[in-house]
Amino acid sequence: MSDVIKLLPDSVANQIAAGEVIQRPASVVKELVENAVDAGANEISIIIKDAGRSLVQVVDNGCGMSATDARLAFERHSTSKISQADDLFSLHTMGFRGEALASICAVSQVDVRTMRHGDSVGTRLTINGSKVESQVPEACAPGTNMMVKNLFFNIPARRKFLKKDSVEMSNIIHEFERLALVNPEVELTLIHNDITLHRLPAANLRQRIIDLFGKQLDSKLLPVETDTDLVRISGFIVRPEHCKKRGALQYLFVNGRNMRHPVFHKAIMQCYEGLIPADDLPTYFLDFTVDPASIDVNIHPTKNEIKFEQELAIRQILFAAVKETIGRFSAAPAIDFDTLTDRDRLDIPAPGSVKSDNATPRPASRTAYNPFAPSSTAGWEELYRSFTNARSEAMTAPSDPQQSLLNSLGDELAAEQPFEPSSTALIPIGLRYAAMADTQGMRIIDLRRAHIAVLYSEFLAALSTQNENAPASQRLIFPEQVDVGNALEPVMQELEPRLTQAGFDLAPLGGGVWAVNAVPAIVDSSNPGELVRTILEDFRTSLNPQSAQLNPIALGMARAAAFRANRRMTQAELQHLASQLMSLQMPGFTPNGKPTFTMLSENEISRML
Ligand code: ADP
Ligand code: MG
Repeated sequence: MSDVIKLLPDSVANQIAAGEVIQRPASVVKELVENAVDAGANEISIIIKDAGRSLVQVVDNGCGMSATDARLAFERHSTSKISQADDLFSLHTMGFRGEALASICAVSQVDVRTMRHGDSVGTRLTINGSKVESQVPEACAPGTNMMVKNLFFNIPARRKFLKKDSVEMSNIIHEFERLALVNPEVELTLIHNDITLHRLPAANLRQRIIDLFGKQLDSKLLPVETDTDLVRISGFIVRPEHCKKRGALQYLFVNGRNMRHPVFHKAIMQCYEGLIPADDLPTYFLDFTVDPASIDVNIHPTKNEIKFEQELAIRQILFAAVKETIGRFSAAPAIDFDTLTDRDRLDIPAPGSVKSDNATPRPASRTAYNPFAPSSTAGWEELYRSFTNARSEAMTAPSDPQQSLLNSLGDELAAEQPFEPSSTALIPIGLRYAAMADTQGMRIIDLRRAHIAVLYSEFLAALSTQNENAPASQRLIFPEQVDVGNALEPVMQELEPRLTQAGFDLAPLGGGVWAVNAVPAIVDSSNPGELVRTILEDFRTSLNPQSAQLNPIALGMARAAAFRANRRMTQAELQHLASQLMSLQMPGFTPNGKPTFTMLSENEISRML
């Protein structure tokens, strides 16, 4: 039998290698912009057509290439950045593997013009799936103008796997944001289908953050700065009171490179522990400068995973620096829900019949909407009866010790309504949770999540029925402005018609700022700006395929309007909420899949004791 092993032709090898480096149009953006930065450019424009499907073009004013270099640049393992393996440990450039251009030209049609500063004529090179089609001298501007057309044109399977334009574009925007943050001193422009999404002037990190994500961040940022022999860490974190459930911006960089680092991430999270609710997330932008010899960036072709020689020590320095900043700038030593910011003040009106136990000022503009107003709870009573029937003797037998224990757990509950062991009383645990008896033991409800689940189903129903008639909306006496920032502007444009359908009235004011003139009648209108921003964030995350079946508008409205554990719910509210929750089709989870309650069984209790 003849031998069966053969060497793959370069073009095939390059196509295979391309799979690692170039997964989607955003990867092309990353590689080309990093090359431009390495070439010393201080002005870079990125021009995208059809979310990168037809064109990713990067124009820079960097050093440019000679005709020979331009040709060589597209060979595999061709790089000007290292010449021996040892150089890997003194890297000052983004690239070094010499793979990106070879990979890109294997899976696309490349048209590049480049000229070195001082040369009188440049060169133009066209390559079609690794095959050089032409190279001619051409007059062009100093620098490099790289056009990558029809990505994956020769690998239909890969092309087919590209996501819809909004998803690919959202990936490109994320990549752009990362690149813009690590290179604040570079002027950057991003254009998609002839619309300028970003024009960022050269700046420092703080200004770049604000240019990218909006002015509202400015007052929330706290500087972190520490300089040791091992590492210099600088950047910004947000005040604990501005941490959010979602949409946190979390960025780590090392030596000008974006990185993922779960250990450092965890260290930062630990600094906020006890200061923010357990599932809130801090925004942070932290830049590490270390001796290039002390890290290994060559773990993965995308170079995002980085190994630190002194990981433990750096983790400690990071922890101390972040803690110090929080301590120095934030007055709150422990969480205090009464001092939450305006953003968090979307408290829920208490039913008129029940005395309000809390002094939180109520926003002036209020609708008649009251999520806790007793309404159709018939289903609940029935449901609960089936629980109580099956309930164990021990739970129902009125015994004094039990009663006094329960009373002491819920003072207020006792004050409002005498405890009856057979009733459906809920026992508040802090502000956020409440417990209720169940056949299996104890059901502990997360009140905010429960409220989100309830509101979501209400809003979903309201939005779908409203589509037939004109959507009911309430005009705002004082229209509010939301600065969504340039980054979210395209997302907002896509979302706007759907918001209009839901009863919003929004008008673009330019530069990423929108006026909110009206909101749907079914929501609390006290903080329309926050409402729109929450929906926008949910919408942006819903571009993610696994959450595509969610209605981001209903979810955003629910999250913005839901109870925030910033006051104690009254017994009537607790009962009403529990009953509404239990009458949902899927009471156990929020629409985005977080559990709304947990069970504490007899077994677990006996294990604990
Ligand atoms: P790497 O960046 O790892 O060196 P690439 O395949 O990305 O590998 O690029 C190969 C080489 O092409 C680079 O080392 C550099 O010399 C040259 N090059 C690429 N892009 C540019 C650019 N925009 N300006 C100048 N030179 C470039
Ligand atoms: Mg490169």
